[in-house]
Amino acid sequence: MQTRIETGILGATGMVGQHFIKFLQGNPWFDLKWLGASDRSAGKKYRDAMTWHLPGGTPDSVADITVDECKPGNAPRLLFSAMDASVATDIERAFAQAGHVVVSNSRNHRMERDVPLLVPEINPDHLKLVPGQQRLRGWTGQIVTNPNCSTIVLTMGLAPLKQFGITKVIVTTLQAISGAGYPGVASMDIVGNVVPFIGMEEEKMEMETQKIMGEFRGDHIEPLAAKVSAHCNRVAVVDGHTVTVSVELASKPSLADLRNAIENFTGVPQQRQLPSAPPKPVIYMEEANRPQPRKDAERERGMAAFVGRLRACPVLDYKFVALGHNTIRGAAGAAVLNAELMHSEGMLD
Ligand code: NAP
Repeated sequence: MQTRIETGILGATGMVGQHFIKFLQGNPWFDLKWLGASDRSAGKKYRDAMTWHLPGGTPDSVADITVDECKPGNAPRLLFSAMDASVATDIERAFAQAGHVVVSNSRNHRMERDVPLLVPEINPDHLKLVPGQQRLRGWTGQIVTNPNCSTIVLTMGLAPLKQFGITKVIVTTLQAISGAGYPGVASMDIVGNVVPFIGMEEEKMEMETQKIMGEFRGDHIEPLAAKVSAHCNRVAVVDGHTVTVSVELASKPSLADLRNAIENFTGVPQQRQLPSAPPKPVIYMEEANRPQPRKDAERERGMAAFVGRLRACPVLDYKFVALGHNTIRGAAGAAVLNAELMHSEGMLD
């Protein structure tokens, strides 16, 4: 764990690319050396190739890096991908074929049978799909993905309850505008308003949740046999996706059993003290009016999920609220934690 691993970003000039750059600052394992984007940006200094949208200005460590085209050749073996979804499929595959480890935030490969959709606290064993992926596709590299930004908040809220047999989930989201990238939703559509539709978001939440919480079965993941129904809404919040959840549980645990399960929930990233792992992945808040995005999303470097208001549900068994930072735990931070888990498994050697 002593030698720093050189890394790069596919789609470094975009919104998620900038979040990767910011999140990787000071990472003790990964050394950001290479930035890739489209041919519109290639050949320019990073500072000239994009407009920096995050607080604090363009970090000095990347400002003078010359942006490269997203073609295998010069990039380090480990790449984080924040590529536009319209081009990510072929470009990520080309890099994996050329021997790169592509840790992707894009949606393109998440639901492929041999691609891990990883949340290190929930399904670290899904990395066992990788040897089969390499065998089947003839790749020396690999693709590993992280979930959609609202799915990760839901699954972290559900993860402590999995032991009680989740059979039905109804989730309603209140999703921040930063999840729509830049410039995102027009101000006239979102200020003082709620938009009750986010394209393909409900389908993604339903399918991804079943895969993430499913079981590794040799060459595929057996999805969690729970019905999941999602209602997705965009609200006038800058950062932090909130989800309200009702859940049916087969073993009919008591409220105290659930609270105990949430309090004691931990995972491999915590046991191995991975650099980006929050000390507690799920934090229960006692206050009746918490968690709230403005007050809680940034806590724990944006890497924890906050749960509150756990109570009986008159339709299913229990209901609660969960919150997570959509561009950190829901995007860049999720992918970096995935790569840290992979390094701790010896997969980046
Ligand atoms: P974005 O701001 O539009 O950035 C897209 C990036 O892809 C830019 O670096 C762009 O480079 C690059 N790109 C576009 N066409 C390319 C090509 N032909 N070859 C190589 N690079 C190309 O998008 P974003 O909001 O960061 O989202 C990136 C990905 O993350 C998407 O798949 C999105 O669905 C996913 N995601 C986004 C969020 C979010 O909060 N925004 C959250 C979760 C997941 P140029 O600057 O040179 O055009």
